[in-house]
Amino acid sequence: MDYDVIVIGGGPSGLMAAIAAGEKGARVLLIDKGDKLGRKLAISGGGRCNVTNRLPVEEIIKHIPGNGKFLYSAFSIFSNEDIIRFFEKLGIDLKEEDHGRMFPVSNNAQSVVDALLQQLEKLRVRVFKNSPVADVLYENGHVAGVLLKDGQKLATQSVVIAVGGKSVPQTGSTGDGYAWAEKAGHTITELFPTEVPVTSTEPFIKKKTLQGLSLRDIQLSVLNPKGKPLVSHRMDMLFTHFGVSGPAVLRCSQFVVKAMKKWNLKEVTMSLDAIPDRKEEEVFQEIIKMVKGEPKKSIKNTLKGLVPERYLLFLLEIHHIDPSEQGGTISNEKIRAFVKGCKQFQFKVNGTLPLEKAFVTGGGITVKEIEPQTMASKLMDGLYFCGEILDIHGYTGGYNITSALVTGRLAGTNAAKSVKTKRA
Ligand SMILES: Cc1cc2nc3c(=O)[nH]c(=O)nc-3n(C[C@H](O)[C@H](O)[C@H](O)COP(=O)(O)OP(=O)(O)OC[C@H]3O[C@@H](n4cnc5c(N)ncnc54)[C@H](O)[C@@H]3O)c2cc1C
Repeated sequence: MDYDVIVIGGGPSGLMAAIAAGEKGARVLLIDKGDKLGRKLAISGGGRCNVTNRLPVEEIIKHIPGNGKFLYSAFSIFSNEDIIRFFEKLGIDLKEEDHGRMFPVSNNAQSVVDALLQQLEKLRVRVFKNSPVADVLYENGHVAGVLLKDGQKLATQSVVIAVGGKSVPQTGSTGDGYAWAEKAGHTITELFPTEVPVTSTEPFIKKKTLQGLSLRDIQLSVLNPKGKPLVSHRMDMLFTHFGVSGPAVLRCSQFVVKAMKKWNLKEVTMSLDAIPDRKEEEVFQEIIKMVKGEPKKSIKNTLKGLVPERYLLFLLEIHHIDPSEQGGTISNEKIRAFVKGCKQFQFKVNGTLPLEKAFVTGGGITVKEIEPQTMASKLMDGLYFCGEILDIHGYTGGYNITSALVTGRLAGTNAAKSVKTKRA
């Protein structure tokens, strides 16, 4: 049987592309190398699937630091609000959590995957599982078909490449698509890990002094070699046995990678503000007043509640203040240095976990060679791209799945349309 559109990859972008092409009446084949579709989607958002985000489009674009602006036209055709409506029509009600994050009411990522699979079935999309694609075939400047690893050749005029990036390869995303894109003349920008935990060899990390401690609503910055913030993010963070992690760290991670590369550094400094709503001088004056009021009280008790106790003890230690010391006996200079530590605790980081461990792959097929309203290749007739294989990457918070679904929608719709136009 001939197919109008072949979609390679059954992640969120490929599932959406296959559905969109099916809705246009195309004969669609979806091919995945795994035994299950949507494997990454099923583990996303801690198993709850942060399927999209409800912030205004402007904000969504800002939260996609890797070429978010390329998505303006795509969002004008199919937006985050359209994603929400799409899932509601499939019977998946979504709820909004902090920072605009949208999750299924069921709190179950598999329910999102299942709804997409049912829709594929309804639209009679053929699905080949356990069928790794070895190559995409081109003839005289247009798509000719797909070659499976088992040697089978499938003819088609339209191919959507939706095979994802290179992160978490056990879910099937092993970076197979870059070579097929290059063969069509596309440029692949350098791949790098993003939304990834950051590593450090600081003694307090090696000694696991703060391992397991999470700090809520802090401000974390990556500093340039002159000590100025390159980026700051206000969210939660976590100390681990190898470095730091948690939402604020994940967001900062790509700036660590970029700073190391740009200035050829072995280490980058991060700065942690544990009390971002308060000014340094104001906190200092308040502590001095409290100490004067109760000079015999231990400094640990005077400072109780300023920051979490474990972090407080750590900061006191690095500023050579004995927690049981009476506040009145501690010099103002020491207290000032301690307050500075609360506002600007600086530590060195030396990289990130590898690409395989990153939530998202940075870099990919350059967006300059893609039509922003259709996701069509500008270089090869009948070829479309969507999802993480593109040089588009967002912060965690639903932005990557949003990008995958939006680009998938456009790629599938237009792959189907192009075949109809050719047939007519
Ligand atoms: C643990 C984790 C949690 C995440 N949580 C979130 C979240 O909550 N919100 C969010 O927005 N983003 C999240 N992300 C990122 C998000 O899941 C990805 O950006 C998104 O899945 C990318 O979709 P995709 O369709 O481009 O590719 P993928 O989901 O990677 O799917 C690619 C598919 O292509 C198939 N494939 C690959 N090569 C071949 C081949 N040669 N032949 C046939 N098939 C092939 C694979 O088997 C796979 O099924 C998370 C990522 C991880 C790792």
